[in-house]
Order: sequence, then C-alpha cells, then structure tokens
Amino acid sequence: MRIILLGAPGAGKGTQAATLNEELNAPHIATGDLFRAALSQGTPLGLEAKSYMDRGELVPDNVTVRMLLERISQPDAADGYILDGFPRSLAQAEALDDALKSRNENIDKVLLVDVSEDELVRRLSGRWICRTCQKPFHVINNPPKKDGLCDVCDPEDGELYQRDDDKPETVRNRLGVYQDQTAPLIDYYTAQGILTSINGEQEIESVRADLLAALE
Ligand code: ADP
Ligand code: AMP
Repeated sequence: MRIILLGAPGAGKGTQAATLNEELNAPHIATGDLFRAALSQGTPLGLEAKSYMDRGELVPDNVTVRMLLERISQPDAADGYILDGFPRSLAQAEALDDALKSRNENIDKVLLVDVSEDELVRRLSGRWICRTCQKPFHVINNPPKKDGLCDVCDPEDGELYQRDDDKPETVRNRLGVYQDQTAPLIDYYTAQGILTSINGEQEIESVRADLLAALE
C-alpha cells in the first residue's frame, strides 16, 4: 500500500510511522529525516536545505520532489511505503500524482492526523529524538525508559537530542507554513475520495488503532 500520513508538525506522524511500518511491512519515508541525514553528511543537498529548515520554511518544491522520487524508486519501496512530511504543498502533491500515474500507480490512502494548535506546541516543545533511528520521544507524554537514551538503540547508540527547529519562534513559523501551504491538501485528497481524518489527540495506542482501522 502507498500511504500518506498528513498532519501538522508535532501531530504524531513519525511516532505512528515508526510502528506502522512493521505492521504494514513498508518503509517509513520522512522527507525531514532525509534532509537531516543529508545535512549530517554535509552533502550539497543538506547544505541547501539547511537555511530553509532553520527558518521553518519549506525547502523548494523542485529539490524536495527530486529527492522524494529518487527515494521511492529504490527497491525497498517497490511494493509500497508510508510517506511522512511529504507532500507539503499542492505542487508537491501534483508532482507525486503525475510521477505515480506514469508508472500506473496511485496513492491508496491519506490519513490525516488531526491535533489542535495548543497541543502541537506542547508536543514539539517536549520532543526528543534519537540521533541513530530518529524515533521521537516526549519528556512527559512518551518518555524514554532511560533518561536521554533511545529505548530501541541503547546500549550501543541512541543519544536523544532536541531539534533546533523545535524552538518556540521556529515552531510558530512552521505551524503558519502548515496552515498556508499544507492544509490545502486536505481538500485535494478529500476530492480524490482517499482521505480519512483521525483524532490525533488521544493516547498513542488509540491513534494507532484508529489508523489501522482506517486502513482495513
Ligand atoms: P510529527 O512526526 O508529526 O512531527 P512526532 O511523531 O515527532 O510528530 O510527535 C511529536 C511529539 O509528540 C513527540 O515528542 C512525541 O513523543 C509526542 N507524541 C506523539 N504522539 C502523541 C500522542 N498521541 N499523545 C501525546 N504525545 C504524542
Ligand atoms: P519535519 O521533520 O517533517 O518536521 O521537517 C523538517 C523541515 O524539513 C521542514 O520544516 C522543512 O524545512 C523541511 N522539509 C521536510 N519535508 C519537506 C517537504 N515535503 N517540503 C519542503 N520542505 C520539507
């Protein structure tokens, strides 16, 4: 299945994708993770993305679309994938649809994880991420078993860190960018008849159950 997890920054897309990928046996492809990996390797793509990410702006569509199309062409994505953080603009959604159509493929389902703005701010300000596997934790809602260490990657690895763009000023900008540029995708996919909205403001396990039910 080809699935899109749609939702504002902090809605819980990465948290859910980290377990849905095992259940569905499909890779979790997060464009934010791909940009951060490129940045930590110091590639030209990473350096180009950095100035946009630091400000909470979208990386230009042509750069992002090229990176994503290359990623979904890899063998592990041949039978499906879970997209997280892509598409984030109408131009990206249309480019994805065009590319899929040329291969006789389509997106099967778009799952909107719906969370209020106050809760998004609370979640992002308490988010800690594993440097090794990118799994998100939360100081209060979803704490790691050991302080500062990822439950999955400890003991070899798994230092947790806070993203620079989770600072309050950048968070406000990212939520504005979501409303202006990404929220119009809700109508776009509703018109295609493939969007289901899930209440993201429940316990992590309940959100997971609703997502799985929507996929049945
Ligand atoms: P996104 O990938 O949509 O930006 P994350 O999955 O990184 O969001 O989640 C943002 C923060 O909220 C993380 O700190 C995560 O632990 C926490 N979180 C995720 N889902 C829930 C939930 N259902 N209830 C409470 N906190 C959550
Ligand atoms: P995320 O990890 O999804 O919160 O993304 C972090 C940052 O990466 C965003 O604020 C953007 O600067 C950039 N980014 C990630 N995905 C996209 C996308 N689909 N289009 C443009 N920029 C993106």
